Amino acid sequence: MIVNYKNLSGKVVVITGGARGIGLATAKACLAQGAQVSIGDIDGDLAVSQAKKIGGFGHALDVRKRDSFESFLQATEDKLGPIDVLINNAGIMPTGAFVDESDDISETQIDINLNGVILGCKLALPRMIRRGSGHIVNVSSMAGVIPIPGLAVYCATKFAVVGLTKTLREEYRDTGINFSTIMPCKVKTELALGSDDAAKGVPTSTPEEIAAAVLKSIAHELTEVTIPSYLGYSPAILNLTPHRVTQGFRRLFGDRRVLEQLNEQERNRYNQRINDLVQ
Ligand code: NAD
Repeated sequence: MIVNYKNLSGKVVVITGGARGIGLATAKACLAQGAQVSIGDIDGDLAVSQAKKIGGFGHALDVRKRDSFESFLQATEDKLGPIDVLINNAGIMPTGAFVDESDDISETQIDINLNGVILGCKLALPRMIRRGSGHIVNVSSMAGVIPIPGLAVYCATKFAVVGLTKTLREEYRDTGINFSTIMPCKVKTELALGSDDAAKGVPTSTPEEIAAAVLKSIAHELTEVTIPSYLGYSPAILNLTPHRVTQGFRRLFGDRRVLEQLNEQERNRYNQRINDLVQ
């Protein structure tokens, strides 16, 4: 049985990293459609207080840990019923030269941005397969299709999420489960703090615009969604254009600005938060 999620009314939607930014905006958009929403976040207190404010269910979650993810999903099902949609959104974005990045920060990034998505898919899929329906939305990035100097490991995790989602879509075809990948360019959230100069000329969206794209991907069973949508052609153009030509454009555009033009003071506010995640 293929379930159409055009109407999210009454559906149970689970969002990781839902206490702020894109996750929170998506939670509000789903609630506005009549969905029942569960948000999980490493910042458990914030997840609970935000959920209370918007009318959803909030729970502590560390996407890196199977036990934590499993109890989050179970608590959601106990409270709201079987999960219809999982949105793997939690992520972090450290910045800086590749060789200077500490191994701890590289590993934490891989654990959250990639392993967290893998774990979410592994835990949600059997529940969805049993019911013959479900939709998994994985939040990648344009950095998952376009290399950005200063974000090497981040790009590696986001490229991997694109590949993971493409592959799961084929492995689980005919099960009634849909998979979407969301690839935003820059979004005005804390994750992008201090990048206004570095990202000058880069299309910038609000979290609400990304939330609308997530909802559209569910309603229309879209496979890969770039925001803005016209960027959807960029991977194909990049692949077809000789490297020397793309590199020329990159130089003209100034593609090293993440390395050179971040506002360190603003960035430190974000870095403090993500440094606390290193164990
Ligand atoms: P954000 O920092 O505002 O929100 C991310 C949330 O994830 C935070 O609430 C954080 O506490 C949570 N989180 C971090 N580690 C976690 C963990 N281990 N377990 C559970 N929750 C955890 O960032 P955002 O911009 O809303 O990012 C959401 C997603 O969108 C990320 O995957 C990010 O890579 C992606 N993205 C963001 C941008 C952008 O410019 N902001 C662009 C493209 C893609």
